[in-house]
Amino acid sequence: MEKKLILKPGREKSLLRRHPWIFSGAVQAVTGEPGKGDTLIVESSKGEFLGRCGYNPESSIRGRIWTFAEEEDNADFFLNKLRIAITLRRDIGVLNSFNNSSRLVHAESDGLPGLIVDQYGEHLVVQFLTAAMDAWRGEVVKALADLTGIHDIFERSDVDVRKLEDLEERVGVLSGDEPTERLEIMENGLKFLVDIREGQKTGFYLDQRNNRAAMAEFAEGKSILNCFSYTGGFTVYGLKAGAESVLSIDSSQDANDLALENIRLNGLDESKARFITGDVFKKLRTLRDSSRSFDLIVLDPPKFAATAAQADKAARGYKDINLLAFKLLKPGGILFTFSCSGGVSRELFQKIVADAALDAGVEASIIRQCSQGPDHPIALNFPEGEYLKGLVCKLH
Ligand code: SAH
Repeated sequence: MEKKLILKPGREKSLLRRHPWIFSGAVQAVTGEPGKGDTLIVESSKGEFLGRCGYNPESSIRGRIWTFAEEEDNADFFLNKLRIAITLRRDIGVLNSFNNSSRLVHAESDGLPGLIVDQYGEHLVVQFLTAAMDAWRGEVVKALADLTGIHDIFERSDVDVRKLEDLEERVGVLSGDEPTERLEIMENGLKFLVDIREGQKTGFYLDQRNNRAAMAEFAEGKSILNCFSYTGGFTVYGLKAGAESVLSIDSSQDANDLALENIRLNGLDESKARFITGDVFKKLRTLRDSSRSFDLIVLDPPKFAATAAQADKAARGYKDINLLAFKLLKPGGILFTFSCSGGVSRELFQKIVADAALDAGVEASIIRQCSQGPDHPIALNFPEGEYLKGLVCKLH
């Protein structure tokens, strides 16, 4: 019997708008006894063909659409999708003489649910996030090598979302040589050391590239507080732009150590940099209690809410740190504040930041809106692809 996923009456609407997800509640029946990761034909309750999806009986997202057309998903299909994704990055010029690193594949937004590929110079780092994508790992690795000419490909599928797919974590070489402990990459002409084997995500937060550059525009002569600083992305940009001082706070000692190395690597004045290893929520209170103040503050916390269900808890976290940051800013100061929580919309985030200003007793205006860089595109049929929201607020 053919492997098919048949929808409940009326539940084809989102698919007709080309949204790629099929939730468990929309499924009437599954035929042909498919296994995890198999491809199924998707039909409406009236038997109309809607597309083909990768299937996972363990996940609340039962199916993720590979294609809305009558075509096979085979090695050529994935080669073609990957070619389109890589061509997009080439067309928009994100890899150039000042930048040798970029996201090449951004999952659903590139029509490849469950696949992340980041290029760091002459290395690729890949994450397979779903069972259906995992099933095509061999074809994907071969296609990536053919399309980019890069043969050193490393897997970092050590992510929580694989648990939702009932998949084990996997880390290791997929092709070519074992990467060195730290790779040196270039971003907007600045050098950064990236640990693709053990660093967070695939090693570096490529999505913040343009926002780091935006912050640098305001940094000259300023005292900067960089919260959740990781390996010093905003810190290095701030020092390069002539900041008077940058205080970086991160809970990871390894991240702070690498941040200091990144400052040295760029020949910047490390006497202007201070580091605190600790919890931002606590350290902001300590700074407030000792009446410290700053000209510019960056808040780039980790994801507080993956889904809308966790939005309330996340909102409390964002409110807390933004309120403290507003209190620590000098009059006329600037706050770069971010949320990468999929479960918190841009509208909600702005409201939380507005509430924080109100409670801090300050007046401020948004002078710029930030998003993820263009190598992390947002497909029009998949608004969930926009996960990074940022506001640049200036105090009156
Ligand atoms: N701004 C960074 C990326 C930040 S990622 C850049 O441009 O590269 C989030 C960082 O927050 C991580 O480095 C993580 O170690 C740190 N972190 C998570 N929870 C924290 C907490 N409660 N206090 C301090 N740092 C925290």
